[in-house]
Amino acid sequence: MRTIKHWIDGRDTAGESSRTAPVWNPATGEHQADVLLAGPADVDAAVRAARTALAGWADTSVMRRSRLMFAFRNLVEKHLDDLARMVSAEHGKVLEDARGELIRGLEVIDFACGIPHLLKGEYSDQVSTDVDLFSFRQPLGVCAGITPFNFPAMVPMWMHPIAIATGNTFVLKPSERDPSASNLVAELYAEAGLPDGVFNVVHGDKVAVDAILDHPDIAAVSFVGSTPIARYVHERATAGGKRVQALGGAKNHAVVLPDADLDLAADQLIAAGYGSAGQRCMAISVAVAVGDVAGPLVKLVREKAQAIKVGPGLRAGSEMGPVVSPEALERIRGYIRSGVTAGADLVVDGRDLDVQEDGFFVGPTLFDHVTPEMDVYRDEIFGPVVAVVRVGSLEEAIDLINGNDLANGTAIFTASGRAARLFQRSVQVGMIGVNVPIPVPMAFYSFGGWKQSLFGAHHMHGPEGVAFYTRAKAVTSRWPEDAEDGPDLHFPTAV
Ligand code: NAD
Repeated sequence: MRTIKHWIDGRDTAGESSRTAPVWNPATGEHQADVLLAGPADVDAAVRAARTALAGWADTSVMRRSRLMFAFRNLVEKHLDDLARMVSAEHGKVLEDARGELIRGLEVIDFACGIPHLLKGEYSDQVSTDVDLFSFRQPLGVCAGITPFNFPAMVPMWMHPIAIATGNTFVLKPSERDPSASNLVAELYAEAGLPDGVFNVVHGDKVAVDAILDHPDIAAVSFVGSTPIARYVHERATAGGKRVQALGGAKNHAVVLPDADLDLAADQLIAAGYGSAGQRCMAISVAVAVGDVAGPLVKLVREKAQAIKVGPGLRAGSEMGPVVSPEALERIRGYIRSGVTAGADLVVDGRDLDVQEDGFFVGPTLFDHVTPEMDVYRDEIFGPVVAVVRVGSLEEAIDLINGNDLANGTAIFTASGRAARLFQRSVQVGMIGVNVPIPVPMAFYSFGGWKQSLFGAHHMHGPEGVAFYTRAKAVTSRWPEDAEDGPDLHFPTAV
């Protein structure tokens, strides 16, 4: 059995803790590797390596840091298929989807290559007589990232390229369910010439996370995962004085108005509801059908859902892979049972799926006549289950969305600019698509939800990512020619 180790101070290491967790092949159900689970001593070793590397790295010129990011970027591009295969083999998503994840991650590295521009400060000449004022930003220190299983390459790439390009050192604790891609990323950083200790990977579970949250030498924590853990990470790490951004779960609604292009809306619902087997934080899990659009929409989505080719992620022709683990499979099946018991209309039942594999497969599932008090509406199922809620008006749809605590993304399908504008101004959600179902902002904008989908002030990557991993200094300076007349005790004002 292969054992997946940590990467600390420029090399792989088994560390001290001998606890392990199984890494599944979700397409076959096979236990394909064991991943080591770090204890506090292993986390401490990674933090010490990152701390030792910090002074040299923070002082490395911004042009050299940028060149290193370019070299790393080219290596990630060269190994994109290797990384995508690793992601598909451990997560289960289809290869083309894994490639898409890598390309979106690569775009954040592209953005980080522009760090000389992004770190430019401000300068004001002569703010008072003979006085200039300027500001610049410096790194925080050792930063940590704790990431979920569903984007094992992209979500860490929301964090480490920007943290490192801005002069910090980094300790990544990826999901223990699909850990391998992070080790290849560490090797690529080393090949690009990143000094030892600047990027470290510790694998683990709650024990490693708690050791990160409590470590006195970690300045900042970036977290992405489910809402209860995001809340916990935010509370515990801020109590220790750290800067924290913690992105949580989602229940994303797509509103379909009667004037929408129905075929397009149905295609987009299929892509966003069942792509990656619904295991995306920007998946559409609720379709809000306004007025008489409901009947025809459900009919179209049903036909298209039944035509999806479900199979192993690495098999050519598969459009949707398995879910990540046996526990996820059981949870999703449980929700389908619960929807039926609560009285929702089960239009397509993913439990009927006929695949010739032993993996963790559940097919596309569609519920109609779902109401807001049902579990299948309230909870994040994180599987290929789409719930249709029927409402009478756009205003009712907006009220429904604003009544939900999870506020990551949402979308509207309409031919009316006026309706779209009302929607984008009224919904209390962080990321909005207009005829776009998965409105993930590009790397040069920032990614984040509202309400229980984000704890902390900063969104990920883009300008907010740069702000998160740096802090500003403002310098007021003058170079007087003559000695002055003595102290003046007034609060100084500009002259
Ligand atoms: P998760 O919350 O179970 O795990 C996330 C990370 O926290 C992992 O590294 C895990 O090891 C760690 N962890 C798990 N339980 C812990 C505990 N009790 N104490 C401390 N640490 C713990 O999430 P997941 O199942 O890996 O990922 C799916 C979730 O992530 C979904 O809720 C999804 O919506 C969310 N997600 C959100 C975004 C976003 O941008 N908002 C992006 C991707 C995923």
